[in-house]
Amino acid sequence: MNPTYDFAGQVAFVTGAGSGMGLATARAFARSGAAVALTDVDEAALDTAAEHLAADGHRVLALTCDVSDEEQVAAAVDRTVETFGRLDMAYNNAGIQIPPVDAAEEGAEQFDRVHGVNLRGVWACMKHELRHMRARGSGAIVNCSSLGGLVGLPGRASYHATKHGVIGLTGSAALEYAPRGIRINAVCPGTIDTPMVSDMIAKGELDRAEAEANQPINRLGTAEEIAQAVLWLCSPGAAFVVGVALPVDGGYVAQ
Ligand code: NAP
Repeated sequence: MNPTYDFAGQVAFVTGAGSGMGLATARAFARSGAAVALTDVDEAALDTAAEHLAADGHRVLALTCDVSDEEQVAAAVDRTVETFGRLDMAYNNAGIQIPPVDAAEEGAEQFDRVHGVNLRGVWACMKHELRHMRARGSGAIVNCSSLGGLVGLPGRASYHATKHGVIGLTGSAALEYAPRGIRINAVCPGTIDTPMVSDMIAKGELDRAEAEANQPINRLGTAEEIAQAVLWLCSPGAAFVVGVALPVDGGYVAQ
C-alpha cells in the first residue's frame, strides 16, 4: 500500500510528464490533491496524459516545453504560476538516453545533446522555479539524477556525466536555498521499467535479465516507486532532508 499525501491547495510542475516516471509522478501529485502542470516535448503524449487526469477531475495544465530551451522553460514555469497562482513543488525529470559508445569515439554532437537535455534542462528548470519559490520563501524541488549519477559504467561516460552533474547542481543549490525555505534534493533511480528502458532493450543496448540481476532486489523498478520517493521528498515528512541524492534502485549502489 502506498502512503498518502495531502497536497490540496498546492501546485506541482513536472517535466517529461508524458511518459514513464514523469507521468507516474504527475499522476501521483494530482491524486494527492495538487494542481499539476505537466510539461513534455512530446505534445501527443502530453495531451493524452493531461486529458486522462482532467477526466478524473484533477486540475491540470499541459504545456509543451523542450527543457533544453531556457526560454521555453521560463515561459512554462511562468504560465504555471499565472494559471494556478503559485508554485510549491517541482520534479525536474525530463531526460534522454543515448546509445552506448566507446569513450574514445563519441562525437561532440551527442555529448552536447545529452548535456543540453539532462543537465542544462535541469539547470534551467531549477533556475526559473526558484525565481517564483524564493518570492514566497517556500518550496521543494526534486531533480532527476540516476544510479548513473553515483557510479560509472563502460560506454556510458556522457550520460553518466550529466547525471553526476545533476547531483552537483542539486547539492550546491540546496545549500544556497535551504536557509531561504526551499528544499532541493535529487532522486537516483536504478533501472526502471519505462518506455526509455523498453527502447534500450528493444535496440539490444540493455539485457533485461542482466539488468534485473544487477539489482539485488532481482527485478526492475516501477515508475510508481520513483513517484513515491519524489512525493515523499516534497512532503513535510522530508522537512529535514536537504541536498541528498537518494538512490531508489533495489540496492544497486549498495553493492
Ligand atoms: P521516458 O519514458 O523516455 O520519459 C521521458 C519523457 O521526457 C518522454 O516523454 C520524453 O519525450 C520527454 N523528453 C525528452 N526530451 C525532452 C526535452 N528536451 N524536454 C522535455 N521533455 C523531454 O523516460 P523515463 O525512463 O521515465 O526517464 C525519466 C528520467 O529518469 C530521465 O531523466 C532519465 O534519464 C532518468 N532515469 C531513467 C532510468 C530508467 O531506468 N528508466 C534510470 C535512471 C534515471 P520523448 O519520448 O519524445 O523523448
